[in-house]
Amino acid sequence: MNKNWQPQTRAIRGQMDKTQYGEHSTPLFLTSSFTFGSAEEMAAVFAGEQEGLIYSRYSNPGVDELIAKACALEGTQAGFATASGMAAVFASLAALVKQGDHIVATRALFGSTHQLLTNFLPKWGVTFTYVEPDQPETWSAAVQDNTVLFCTETPSNPGLKLVDLEAAGRLCKEHGLLFVVDNCFATPVIQRPAEFGADLITHSVTKWMDGQGRVLGGLLLGTEEVMEKVTAFCRHTGPAMSPFNAWTVSKSLETLHLRMDAHCRSALVMAEWLGKQSGVARVHYPYLPSHPQYELAQRQMSAGGGIVTFELKGGIEAAQRLLNSAELCTRSSNLGDTRTILTHPATTTHSKLTAEERARVGITDGLVRMSVGLEAVVDIQNDLKLVGEM
Ligand SMILES: *Cc1c(COP(=O)(O)O)cnc(C)c1O
Repeated sequence: MNKNWQPQTRAIRGQMDKTQYGEHSTPLFLTSSFTFGSAEEMAAVFAGEQEGLIYSRYSNPGVDELIAKACALEGTQAGFATASGMAAVFASLAALVKQGDHIVATRALFGSTHQLLTNFLPKWGVTFTYVEPDQPETWSAAVQDNTVLFCTETPSNPGLKLVDLEAAGRLCKEHGLLFVVDNCFATPVIQRPAEFGADLITHSVTKWMDGQGRVLGGLLLGTEEVMEKVTAFCRHTGPAMSPFNAWTVSKSLETLHLRMDAHCRSALVMAEWLGKQSGVARVHYPYLPSHPQYELAQRQMSAGGGIVTFELKGGIEAAQRLLNSAELCTRSSNLGDTRTILTHPATTTHSKLTAEERARVGITDGLVRMSVGLEAVVDIQNDLKLVGEM
């Protein structure tokens, strides 16, 4: 792949070598293992003396194609593709910490990531401290002698709080911490954490990267040094992405820039429109001047993203009434689809938190999360017209 091409060109043209058939679109290699011409060649590939494919838990041409394209987009050196976003998040921590280590993490992480930190890693003697995502001046106080890693996510779900990536990069450099970022919400089209010194970036490709709500998948992308450890962990623990899912997502990356531009444009229109509706108390969107971190959003993101959240004055009852009234928008917990999706976090994704924990991450009873799809904006507005009457 020509390294001078722009990321969006490389996401389209970063195709694996053609086979003898000269296919135009990328083929799909549904095979669990690969064969060798001779015993000597097989021995050389196993010994790492010769390049070659061995087994699809390690690598597969289509999976490698997806990884190469994602590395071009994120500006990273190496990667590994996993069966889900959570497999990537788990590997990003499990491969890099050991018993006795400590992690500093920003509060308001994705729900299952919170479960990893609170319920699973402690069983293996790994502890953590939460810091506030929007208070970088307080982070260094949480760093201990045994802290090895800073783990973050921006914008957060569903509060849409931002983490200053430049400040995080500085903190990690100062204290010699590994800098791990879940970049799922923004995608590399909007924000590239590697430019701020991130060692490892994770993605749930289930969301915007596939963007059509079809397959589960995850990515780990980072420096050669970190990916060496992460890849060894993944090869032997087996979270590999299926070649079919890799093929699907690799094709999806060809339109990622176009789709994200359209999602972000519609999301901004929806955020402004919601702000004018009588039933809405507050709208959260990084590219609205009313967002408390608007300046930071302008600095580290090239657009506001596809998620808008808003608080209804009428609390749970109003939120459920709005979701029930929707004819076009879907009631679902997913996000990053061509179809607009509405979620009521307080009664679904975050119902297991106490009311106090929810308040701490900004989830009020009337909060609705909207993943803005690619339908005509006027149709989405008409579908939500009840907010003007609440
Ligand atoms: C969905 C999501 C994940 C988990 O991804 P899966 O593909 O569902 O396993 C992790 N982080 C964030 C921010 C997500 O939105």
